[in-house]
Amino acid sequence: MTHFHWDHILGFPFFKPAYRNDVRIDVYGRAPEGLTLQSCLEDILVHPHFPIPSSALTAEIQYHSLDLSPFDINGTVITPVPLNHPNGGLGYKIEDRGHRFVFLTDNELNHAHPGGLHFQDYADFACDAELLIHDAEYLTDEYMKGWGHSTVDDAVRLAVEAHAGQLGLFHHHPDRTDDELDRLIHNAESQIQSGRLSCFGMREGMEIKIERER
Ligand SMILES: [Zn+2]
Ligand SMILES: [Zn+2]
Repeated sequence: MTHFHWDHILGFPFFKPAYRNDVRIDVYGRAPEGLTLQSCLEDILVHPHFPIPSSALTAEIQYHSLDLSPFDINGTVITPVPLNHPNGGLGYKIEDRGHRFVFLTDNELNHAHPGGLHFQDYADFACDAELLIHDAEYLTDEYMKGWGHSTVDDAVRLAVEAHAGQLGLFHHHPDRTDDELDRLIHNAESQIQSGRLSCFGMREGMEIKIERER
């Protein structure tokens, strides 16, 4: 989990594996101070918003509370980093057999939020990532400073600074049409001078193979 804003947890009550008794779900994340991971996720299954209480979830759900130390899942090393976002949150670097993927959604590169880091810190964190997925909600003339999201230009700047291989633009503006997204991605691509970096838009269900030689 990155954080617990509605747009990131609304799917949970409808997540079918949670209702199976042959499934174990491991949830990793960091709850805001004074709260638990379990309450942040399960307290949305309450009357009158949902008919099934969390006590009726039949999967075995294990909660793993993170600090900023790297941890290991079956040989894959995951390093959390604080997001620069209202109410905080965590981004992640995932490294496996020399490959590196960095996931920084809900991250505002151009404004300071409590607990967040600065542009150069994120560039260092994402250094040499084959794949960087980053918040790119706004065009420059739409930018809402302090809302916790970045412009496409800033996301591209970060990917260039970090020497990333691929940039996945993510956290699209909710009003954006598909055609507008296509134009936005095309403009971002033409803005990139380095032949090393490619850029694309993220969509639901996407699978990305990380196989480029470093
Ligand atoms: Zn958020
Ligand atoms: Zn969000």
